[in-house]
Amino acid sequence: MSLIGFITIIFLYMGHLHYLFVLETIVDEERDVASKIYTNTFQLVSEHYESVANSILMNDAVIDAFERGDRKQLLKLTAPIYKELVAQNPHLKIMHFHTKESRSFLRLHEPEKFGDDLSDFRYMINRVNHEKKKQIGMEVGRYGINYRVALPVFNKKGEHIGSFEFGIDMNYVFDIFSKNYGIESIVFVNKDIFKIIHKNNKKLKYISFNDHYYIINPQEICLNSMVPASVLSDKYVLVNCNGIENMVFLVTDMKSVLGEDIGKIVFVKNMDGYAKQIAIIRGISIALGIILILFSFYLLRKILNRYAHVIHTYQSQLEIKNRSLTKISNIDHLTKAYNRRCIENVFRKELRRAARYFKPLSVIILDIDNFKKINDIYGHNSGDKVLKNVAKIITGMIRETDHFGRWGGEEFLILATETSLENVAIMAEQIRKTLDAYDFSEPHNVTCSIGIAEFSGEVNLEDLVAKADSALYKAKKTGKNKVMAYPFEQ
Ligand code: GH3
Ligand code: MG
Ligand code: MG
Repeated sequence: MSLIGFITIIFLYMGHLHYLFVLETIVDEERDVASKIYTNTFQLVSEHYESVANSILMNDAVIDAFERGDRKQLLKLTAPIYKELVAQNPHLKIMHFHTKESRSFLRLHEPEKFGDDLSDFRYMINRVNHEKKKQIGMEVGRYGINYRVALPVFNKKGEHIGSFEFGIDMNYVFDIFSKNYGIESIVFVNKDIFKIIHKNNKKLKYISFNDHYYIINPQEICLNSMVPASVLSDKYVLVNCNGIENMVFLVTDMKSVLGEDIGKIVFVKNMDGYAKQIAIIRGISIALGIILILFSFYLLRKILNRYAHVIHTYQSQLEIKNRSLTKISNIDHLTKAYNRRCIENVFRKELRRAARYFKPLSVIILDIDNFKKINDIYGHNSGDKVLKNVAKIITGMIRETDHFGRWGGEEFLILATETSLENVAIMAEQIRKTLDAYDFSEPHNVTCSIGIAEFSGEVNLEDLVAKADSALYKAKKTGKNKVMAYPFEQ
C-alpha cells in the first residue's frame, strides 16, 4: 500500500509540475505578446503624432505667427486643432511651442502660462533645439510621465525658429492594452522620479510598493495590495483577487530618452480565459495519473501473481517431496511392506476405530519357519529374496482395507479390519497354504507359522499382539507350518 501511496504522490507531483510548465508557457507567450504590443503601440503613437505635428507645421500661417512671436494669433490658429485632437484622444496632455532658447512660447494645454525657461530640465527640447532633429520617447515632466514627440520648427527659408511638442500620458498605452487585449497594467515608478511628479501633481494617486518603487494610478485596490515584491524578480506570480486568478508578470523596464530608469511595467493577465484550457490540462494530468496508477496496480498484481505462482510451485514440489519422504519413512525398503513404526501407528488407529464403532478387528502374526537355516544354507541374499517374495505374495492376497507390515526380521503382521477371528483364520490358512505351495527356488519350499487373535476391547496394541504371539508360539511348538488362534482350541 505504501508503494501505491508513493506512486500516487509521484504522479500528483508530476501533474503539478505539468501545471507549472503550462503556466510558464502561458507567461512566456503573454510576455512576448505584451512586449510586442508595447513596442508597436509606441511606434504607432509616435508615427501618428509626428504626422499630425508635421501637418500643423506645414501651415504657413502657423509658422508665420510663431516666427513673429504673435502668441495670440498662434493660439487662434492652433486651439481648434488641439481641441479636436483632445476629443480624439483624451490622453493627449501636451501641445507646446518652444522658442529656440527652450523657453515656453505657447502651451495649448495651458495658454495663459508662458515665457518660463525650461532649459534646466527639459533635455528633450534642449536637444531638439540644439541638434535640430526630432526626439521621440519617454520623459518625466513636472506633471507626469509622458510619451513625447518633439520636432524642430523651421521657417519658410528653412531657418530654425524653435520647437514643437506633443505629450501623451502613459495611461494612453495602458488603456490600449486594457481595451484591446484585456491586459491590465501596474506602473511601478522609481521613487526619485515619483518625487518630481508628486511635487507638482498632488492629486496623483499612488501606493508605496517597496523601498524603490511607488505604484501610480492604482486601478484596483485588491490587486495592488496583494502583488508581492517577488513580482519584480520572479518569472510570474499568481494573485487571487476576489476569487479570480491573475497571473502577474514584469513586461518591461521604462526608460527615458536619456536611458534613465523611470520604472517598471507589470502586466496582470486574468486567467479566466485560460480556465478551460487549464481545466483540460488538469483533467489530462489527473486521467494520466489514474491510468498510470491503474497500470502500476496491474503490474503489481502481475508481479504478486507471479510470485504467488512461484511460491505455489515451490509448495507443490515441497509437498511431493514430503509425500515421497513420508512414504520412504513408512516403507520397509526390502519388502516394500509398512515398516514397524508405520504398522504400529496404523494399528493404534484401527484399534481406536474398532473400539469406537464396535467393529471386529483381527491380527495375524506370521513368522517364517527355520529362516535361520535358509540364510545359513543359501546365503543372506537368498534369505532376502524369500522375504521379498513372501511379502509380495501376502500383499497380493489381502484386501485393500487390510494393512500389512514387517514386524521384524522374518516376522510379518497383517491387520484385517472388520474381520472376525473366524474369517481371519480362513484368510491365514489361505496365506499359509499359498506360501507352502510356492516354489521359492532357493529353497524350493518355505513354510510359515501363523498366530491369530481378535480384538476384544484391549487398550494397547501390545496386549493384542501378545495374544497373537502366544498363538504363534504355540504353532511353532506344535510343529510349525500351521495357523493357531488365540484363545487356543481345547
Ligand atoms: P523358527 O522356525 O523358530 O522361527 O526359527 P528361525 O530360524 O526362523 O528363527 P530365528 O529367530 O532363530 O531366526 C531368524 C533369522 O532371520 C535370524 C536373522 O539372522 C534372520 N534375519 C533377520 N532379518 C533378516 C533379513 O533382513 N535378511 C535375512 N536374510 N535374514 C534376516
Ligand atoms: Mg522369528
Ligand atoms: Mg522363524
